[in-house]
Amino acid sequence: MKNFSYYTVVPKLPEPLKPLQEISQNMWWSWQTDAIELFYRIDQDLWNNPSIEHNPIRLIGALSWERLEELAEDEGFLNHMNSVYREFQHYMTLETWYSRLSRDWQNFTIAYFSLEYGIHESLPIYSGGLGILSGDHLKSASELGIPLVGVGLLYRHGYFRQSLNADGWQHERYPENDFHNMPISLVRDKSGSPIKPYIDYPFGRVFFQIWQVAVGRITLYLLDACLDENAPEGREITKQLYGGDEEMRLKQEVLLGIGGIRALKSIGINPTVCHMNEGHSGFMPLERIRYLMHEQSLGFDAAFEAVYATNIFTTHTPVPAGNDRFTAEQVMKYLGKYIKELGIDAESFLGLGRENPDNKSELFCMTVIAIRMAGFKNGVSQLHGSVSRQMWKNIWPTVPEQETPIEHITNGVHVLSWLSRDMKDLLERYLGERWVDDPYDKEIWKKVRSIPDPELWHAREGLRRRLITFVRKRLKESLQRRGASKSEMALADEVLDPKALTIGFARRFATYKRGNLLFNDLDRLRSILADESRPVQFIFAGKAHPRDEGGKRIIKEIIHTVGLPEFRHKIVFLEDYDISLGRKLVQGVDLWLNNPRRPLEACGTSGMKVTPNAGLNMSILDGWWEEGYDPELGWSIGGRETYDDLSFQDEVESNSIYSLLENEVLPAFYTRSADGIPRKWLQMVKEAMVNLLPVFNTNNMVENYTTRYYLNASINWNQFEFENFAHARHVATWNSRVRAHWSSVSVRSVTIGQGTELGVGELAPVVAEVNLGNLTPQDVIVEAYYGRMEHTGRSIQQGQTQVLNSVEHIDGNLYRFHGMLPCPNSGRFACTLRVINNSPLDIRRLDITPLIWW
Ligand SMILES: *Cc1c(COP(=O)(O)O)cnc(C)c1O
Repeated sequence: MKNFSYYTVVPKLPEPLKPLQEISQNMWWSWQTDAIELFYRIDQDLWNNPSIEHNPIRLIGALSWERLEELAEDEGFLNHMNSVYREFQHYMTLETWYSRLSRDWQNFTIAYFSLEYGIHESLPIYSGGLGILSGDHLKSASELGIPLVGVGLLYRHGYFRQSLNADGWQHERYPENDFHNMPISLVRDKSGSPIKPYIDYPFGRVFFQIWQVAVGRITLYLLDACLDENAPEGREITKQLYGGDEEMRLKQEVLLGIGGIRALKSIGINPTVCHMNEGHSGFMPLERIRYLMHEQSLGFDAAFEAVYATNIFTTHTPVPAGNDRFTAEQVMKYLGKYIKELGIDAESFLGLGRENPDNKSELFCMTVIAIRMAGFKNGVSQLHGSVSRQMWKNIWPTVPEQETPIEHITNGVHVLSWLSRDMKDLLERYLGERWVDDPYDKEIWKKVRSIPDPELWHAREGLRRRLITFVRKRLKESLQRRGASKSEMALADEVLDPKALTIGFARRFATYKRGNLLFNDLDRLRSILADESRPVQFIFAGKAHPRDEGGKRIIKEIIHTVGLPEFRHKIVFLEDYDISLGRKLVQGVDLWLNNPRRPLEACGTSGMKVTPNAGLNMSILDGWWEEGYDPELGWSIGGRETYDDLSFQDEVESNSIYSLLENEVLPAFYTRSADGIPRKWLQMVKEAMVNLLPVFNTNNMVENYTTRYYLNASINWNQFEFENFAHARHVATWNSRVRAHWSSVSVRSVTIGQGTELGVGELAPVVAEVNLGNLTPQDVIVEAYYGRMEHTGRSIQQGQTQVLNSVEHIDGNLYRFHGMLPCPNSGRFACTLRVINNSPLDIRRLDITPLIWW
């Protein structure tokens, strides 16, 4: 082995160009068209060169001194640069939505944990939708001024880059991330040395350093264990996003959750509220508890209450593979020693990760531990909320499914990150500029209706033409790499028609997303594509997970099909789907196709990105489309049916796609007014923009998280923390006392009304006799649970509850509770009774004791 001495080369800029450096170091530039154009202007070929990856730091580093001097003297350029710089400084000091809220809310810090962040292609630490969502979450938190920091991992290799061989088989490359040319900087202590917290793994101590990324006003902290002082096993932990085996995932999750809190503490950040984006960070609450026990001398139970009351958990997928599960041996190997510090035994710890804590054969599930340790829990669309309630209801076996405490906040997209320049200009002209700050203001978006059709159509046609030029170039490059013949390469110049209806389909090739559904009946597809009077064409892209052979086979099959002579001009598959390609596609296509197997697409966000670019959606009624769809503004594939026979389902739903294309989509696109404009189509585009944009954007989403969760959790923090966590101790003591005596409570009898017949509009008196054992009436909530009887005569439909407020002591432990039931409708009803604990922390009630039913 040779010896090396290391040195770093940094770009040197002439004095007048200094602002460039600052602009390039904050990801804010990535959603500012003026800033992007500034970099483009420096050297457009270089900027678009794959080796630069739209990374301004690399761009500047690659410029010759002559070119830099030239720029430093170019007045037009300096003007442009300074205006972007002023805009940036203005942005960083602007009053925000949050700063206008009550002053009591200014001292909070929310920490957001995610295993991946999709902010921009030049920061490749994301794989798909989950990462894009976290990236857009940070950007919108910046716009709104939320006091939030992000926590994640910095991978040496990021996610893989995809190329396809001549046979259509996917190959994965893992280019090494060049940290020195990324917009990141090391967090250092006062003496200038990198701060390096550590975690003890079973194979030894692992140190990690902390990098920071500025995303507008938000700081994202990324942990990096790839350090010389670590053993090879330690260095591997941050080698690759979703790389390695199950155990590697566990090591990464230990680092993200436990290391994440350690990292924040080591730089003096004390989060008051923590948000787990997906179960990957499910160990984080343990470390919060450990700190509280240590710093505040709290017992485990009291610390648990404080942490629970201030944690948020968002679940993202009903697909089993998306919910990590580990064996007890695996978990104990990594956390066995650690939990001793928490003073809890192995069984209580393992129980936190099981739906039924007593079932030793159940695997330890990260989603379950996150659910059990977060007071605020949600799915990512209305439908996914109810799917999640059904999926996780067994955690609360005595609670009716509809009351399972998992809500929903529907995902969105950060509009500016996906919006084309042309559409942005058009929106500014007709809506003014306020939509940028208040994208959820419904009134502003109504002005879209005033955009003249010819202007909107002109923009649309320009965007489509630009996409097609890009596709041809991209296709040629990959054909060249694959060693294609000259004639094959020449074909690339002829694919797609700039005037034809262009449909996009791009996503991870997970099998439930059914990337090949369009090809289910090739004859029908052929006949649609053969209609020269109404040309239609498709652009596909997407990666299959490296270990997903099924997904890879689907890609291969598509490549074969689109190579057939009748398809090759009209369907293309582009390699290496990433944010950059995604942005190009959603800006250029007329229609976005999405056909997952309902209800497995928890939300889906790619379809939301076409709306601001005047594109339409045709989708299965899954995820967000279940909420967004209306026949005035897009198309639904099939209805809300469920199928047992999956190939029958594919047949029905692919036929639905063909019929929609033939009977609705193509006619709408090709029915033109005398001046060649598709009026009906544009009418739908405008209605889509007016109705969908104010809802499905991340500013709206983050505002929802803030008002519903972050602020309430923060208020909880203040209450719990007051006087050395007196309230945390109080809640813990209360809960444990009530838990200890809960089995002594029983319902004796319940009677309703005088007879059994009541008139509509009357109030029915209910009387219940309850034996409270060692508890008092203040310890419990006694509720009537009533509703229509199901035909089976066994359960109540859509049960409603009514608290029985008035209490009368009979004798001993026996109490009589009285209340009134409303009878708004006629019919056969039933009523039963249940007793719930009256914990001082209301969101905790369903967790600490089972409901006692009559
Ligand atoms: C938006 C986006 C996604 C999310 O796609 P869905 O399938 O709609 O969830 C994934 N990858 C990239 C690159 C994206 O831009």
